[in-house]
Amino acid sequence: MSAIPSRSKGAARLLAKNVTALVPDFPFHYARFLETADSLGTPLAQVSRQAYGKQVLIVGAGVAGMVAAYEAMRMGLHPVVVEASGRIGGRLYSYVAGDPQDPDNSVICEMGAMRFPVSGKALMHYFDKVGMRANSTDFPNPGSPFTPSTVVDYQQKQVYYEGDNLPVDYAEIERKLFEVFLEQDPIKFTEMEAAMSEGSLDQARIKALWNAILDAGWDNLSFFAAMVEQAGWSREDIDLFGQIGFGTGGWNTDYPNCFLEVLRVLYTGLDTNHKLMYDGSSELPGRLWRRAPDTFGDTMVHWPAGTTVEGLTTQVISQPLNQEVRQIVRRSNGEFDVWVFDRTLGSEHSYTFPAVVYTPHKRILDKFRYMDGAARFNQMNDLLSPKEWEAVMYTHYMQSAKIFAQTKRPFWTDVGTDLQYRMSVTLSERITRGTYLLDYAQSQGPYKGCGLFLSYTWNDDALKFLGDRGAPLPSHVQLCTTLLDSVYAPHQLNLAAEFGMTNPFVEINWEEQPFFLCAFKMNLPGQYEYQRLLFSQFMNGVSVLNPDGFILAGDDVSWTGGWAEGAVTTALNAVNKLAVKFNGGTLLTNRGPIDEWQALQPKAL
Ligand SMILES: Cc1cc2nc3c(=O)[nH]c(=O)nc-3n(C[C@H](O)[C@H](O)[C@H](O)COP(=O)(O)OP(=O)(O)OC[C@H]3O[C@@H](n4cnc5c(N)ncnc54)[C@H](O)[C@@H]3O)c2cc1C
Repeated sequence: MSAIPSRSKGAARLLAKNVTALVPDFPFHYARFLETADSLGTPLAQVSRQAYGKQVLIVGAGVAGMVAAYEAMRMGLHPVVVEASGRIGGRLYSYVAGDPQDPDNSVICEMGAMRFPVSGKALMHYFDKVGMRANSTDFPNPGSPFTPSTVVDYQQKQVYYEGDNLPVDYAEIERKLFEVFLEQDPIKFTEMEAAMSEGSLDQARIKALWNAILDAGWDNLSFFAAMVEQAGWSREDIDLFGQIGFGTGGWNTDYPNCFLEVLRVLYTGLDTNHKLMYDGSSELPGRLWRRAPDTFGDTMVHWPAGTTVEGLTTQVISQPLNQEVRQIVRRSNGEFDVWVFDRTLGSEHSYTFPAVVYTPHKRILDKFRYMDGAARFNQMNDLLSPKEWEAVMYTHYMQSAKIFAQTKRPFWTDVGTDLQYRMSVTLSERITRGTYLLDYAQSQGPYKGCGLFLSYTWNDDALKFLGDRGAPLPSHVQLCTTLLDSVYAPHQLNLAAEFGMTNPFVEINWEEQPFFLCAFKMNLPGQYEYQRLLFSQFMNGVSVLNPDGFILAGDDVSWTGGWAEGAVTTALNAVNKLAVKFNGGTLLTNRGPIDEWQALQPKAL
C-alpha cells in the first residue's frame, strides 16, 4: 500500500456504512462471486470434463498466483506453480525477527504488505477461509482509534495526540479534504460511497460517476496538481497535509502520482480500517499452497480429497521454488513453450502448457524478450499486442523501504511524568518518515513479541537508503535511532537500549530485490489507457473457440496497485478466463467477471 491519504475521523463512519471496494473502473462484486460459490457449494467456475487434469502454468507464488492455482485446482485443472525466489508469498513476506525459539522474543516483521482493509472483501474472504482472520487485530495506524498515540514531527516541532483525537488544525485539513474538496463536482464522494455501500449498492451509478470524472480529464492530473488546481489549497495546507496523513502516513510521496490512483483508494475505503494478521500475511498463500480445499470446507471436482496445489505442482517439477521462468513462446497450436531456469542446479528446462497465468511484475516480462538473442525475441513478441507491450513498458512503480527492530518489550506504552506515552507512532518529514509500533502479545500464534518499523518509506525517501548499500544494516538502524532519540529527547528515549539481543534488525528495499521491480504499480498522470489495456488483457479472445491462454494477473494489472485486494481480484479474472479457455464458464446462478464485462467494462479514453 502507498502513502495515500486516509481517514481518521471518517474511519468509524465508514465502518458503519459497510463499503465494499468496488473499483469504479470495473465494479464487479468479486466478494459476492466468492460467497455465492461457497453457498452453492461449487468451485468458482467449471471446465469441460475433457479438460480435467490439464496442466496450467502459474508463474509466481504470490497471493495472485496462489489464488489462481487454488481455484484452478478446484475446477479440476492441474496447476503447476513455479517461483523464482526461495519462498512462497512474493510481496506478502512475513519475516520472523528475534529468536524464533522463544515466542516472547520473536515477532513477525511484514516486509511487504502489512495492513489489510476490511472493505477489500475478496482478500478478506480468503483470510477468513484459511482461518487467519480469527487471529487478527486492528492495525495501529497513525491517528487511528486503535493507536494509543501519534506524534507528527514537522518542521522540527513535535505534535502529540492520542487515538483519533486530532489537533484542531489537522482536523480542519481532514474536513477540507473529505467534506469540501472531495464533495465537489465531479468527485461527489458521498454519492460514490453510498453506491459502494451494501444496502444501497449501485454499480450503474458507480460507473456513471466515475466516467464523468474520466470525461472531465482528471487522468491528466497528478495528486499535487489536483490539490493546487482543483482543490485550490494554499501551499501551506498542501505541505502540512503531505506530512500529517490520516491513517497510513505522510502523503506527499504520492503527490507525483495520477490523482485517479488516489481517488480509487479513497472511494473504495482501502485507505482505512485495516487489519493486522497475527499469523503473518504470507501464511495466506502458504496455506493455499499446502492445504487441501476440504480442510477449508471447499468443494473440488476431479481430484480426490486431500489434493493440494503443492502436491500437483511437485508431480511435474519436484522443486518448484528457485525456478525462474525466463521465456514464454506461443506455438502455432496456441500452446506455450516455457523455459524455466533452475537456480539451484544452474540448468534450464523447457515445458509445454496449454495456458499460462503470469503474475510477477510485468516489466520483468519485457526483459524476457531480450534474454536469448534475436530469434527468441521475435517469438516472444507475439505474446502481447504492440499496444499491450507499450503499456507493460510504461508501467510505473513506487519504491519502498522498511527498517525493523525487534524490541524486548512494548516500552512505548510506558507513561511519562507528562502523562504522555513514552513513544508514539511517528510521522516525520525527516529520514525515518513513518515509524510504526507493533505488539503481537495477543496473537494465538507462535510469535508473541513486539517491535517497531524504525522507518517505512516510499519513492525518493526509500531511495535515500539505497545510495549507501555498502553500509551495513546497523548503520541504517543507527541513523533512524539518532533521529527518533532526538524527536523524543524530552522523554530521554534511548531507543538502542530497547532493542532485542538476538537477530533484532531487518531491512528491505524493494528496488534491489531479485525478481521484483520496486514495490508496486502506481501510475503517473496520463497512464489510464495503459492500465485499461493491461487489466482488460484477460478478456482477449473470450468469444472465440480456443481463446488466448496467456493471461496476465497480479498487482500490476489491477486498478488498485499496492493493495493485495487488487492482486486477488485479477487472479479471479484469470480463473474465469481459464474456465472459458477450457470450454466451460461460470454458473448461470453465479456470473463471473467475463459475463459482466459488457455492462461493467472500463471506459476507453
Ligand atoms: C512495501 C509494500 C507494502 C505493501 N503494503 C500493502 C498493504 O499494507 N496492504 C495491502 O493490501 N497490500 C500492500 N502491498 C501490496 C501487496 O503486497 C501486493 O498487492 C501483493 O502482495 C501482490 O501479489 P502478486 O501475487 O500480484 O505479486 P507478487 O507477490 O509480487 O508475486 C509474484 C511472484 O512472482 C515471482 N517471480 C518474479 N519473477 C519470476 C519469474 N521470472 N519466474 C517465476 N517467478 C517469478 C516473485 O518472486 C513473486 O513471488 C504492499 C507491497 C509492498 C511491496
